[in-house]
Amino acid sequence: MKIHEYQAREIFRAYGMPVPPGDVCATADEVKQAAARIGKPVVIKAQVHVGGRGKAGGVKIAKTPAEAWDVGKKILGMDIKGLTVKKVLVAQAVDIASEAYIGVIVDRQAKGVTLMASAAGGVDIEEVARETPEKIVKLTVDPLLGINMFQARQLAYAIYSDTKIAGQAAKVLVQLYKAFWENDCSLAEVNPLVVTPGGEVLAIDAKINIDDSALYRHPDLEALRDLDAEVPEEVAARNAGLSFVKLDGNIGCCVNGAGLAMATMDLVKKFGGDPANFLDIGGSSNPEKVVTAMRIITKDPNVKAILFNIFGGITRCDDVANGLKAALAEFKPKVPITVRLTGTNEAEGRKILESIGINAKSLMVDAVQTAIESAGVNPVVPSETLV
Ligand code: GDP
Ligand code: MN
Repeated sequence: MKIHEYQAREIFRAYGMPVPPGDVCATADEVKQAAARIGKPVVIKAQVHVGGRGKAGGVKIAKTPAEAWDVGKKILGMDIKGLTVKKVLVAQAVDIASEAYIGVIVDRQAKGVTLMASAAGGVDIEEVARETPEKIVKLTVDPLLGINMFQARQLAYAIYSDTKIAGQAAKVLVQLYKAFWENDCSLAEVNPLVVTPGGEVLAIDAKINIDDSALYRHPDLEALRDLDAEVPEEVAARNAGLSFVKLDGNIGCCVNGAGLAMATMDLVKKFGGDPANFLDIGGSSNPEKVVTAMRIITKDPNVKAILFNIFGGITRCDDVANGLKAALAEFKPKVPITVRLTGTNEAEGRKILESIGINAKSLMVDAVQTAIESAGVNPVVPSETLV
């Protein structure tokens, strides 16, 4: 789950990190009032779940409350990478002598939670990671021991030579790691971590992603969810207990099991098709889940064909078939449907599907090719043999 910068700032502040004060505002008038309250130049920042706001014109400085009103008017309602700005953060602006990057991630290669730091912070950290990865220093933290001050200091000295500044930064690194760990984050980062001309270290941006699977342990964090900022289909799917990720292609996929869903998408790609989504109806099937899945898939105007790939185990083929039957009775999808059915209660499932005019395939490769064809694309048969 993504949260907004203003929410992440609150969490960081609670861990003692040096975050300048600010207010979240939804109108230009509120922006003006916030600027007047702060009484100093402010920075006005679009609150959307996407990076690179600065480059997109979503981060601007205003010297007076009147100027803040103008900037607020401009940024509120702005479109940044397909997301509409509905809120802005108005924070005290700071003078910047240098910008660094610090972050905590789950590093699969290192098999552990890893702190990263770079003196080359600011807006282009992705480019730094791509082109000059040696400019990013890393430390994988022992999950049982946690982080030690001497380790944090070592990392801080890799980005700052001044003792006082490195000391402040080391403290921030420990606090950032703690915030990440205790809130079950999948990402926590500050970009930029700045040093002011007076030698003060400040966190002026804040990003936190929370591990969805751990949210049940954090009802207070779950409450930070901004449904307004999320893809509506993903919200509907989550409420129905389905795992759904919207993609850009035109083959709507409905699969039982995350592994099979990934394999299905791979195969669609292999035959020259393009999945419109990842959708896992989960292990235990009930017909209602399939109806919800169909409702979500058919809402996407890009979908030109629907592919069901069901490998019955705990999921029963007849349950899925009944769900599909109920869905077709409820709304008439305008796109062709291809079904691959095998496993538990396959015979019963096939019978149900035949009653609604669907001949289920047995093999995944057949179903995938048929679905691609039915979307009006000629399937590409890969040269290597499929197993
Ligand atoms: P992002 O582009 O979405 O990562 O948004 P940031 O919050 O990181 O802001 C982008 C850039 O705007 C930063 O790298 C800074 O250079 C600049 N910026 C943000 N806040 C301030 C501020 O208070 N003072 C100054 N001088 N620049 C700022
Ligand atoms: Mn940033």
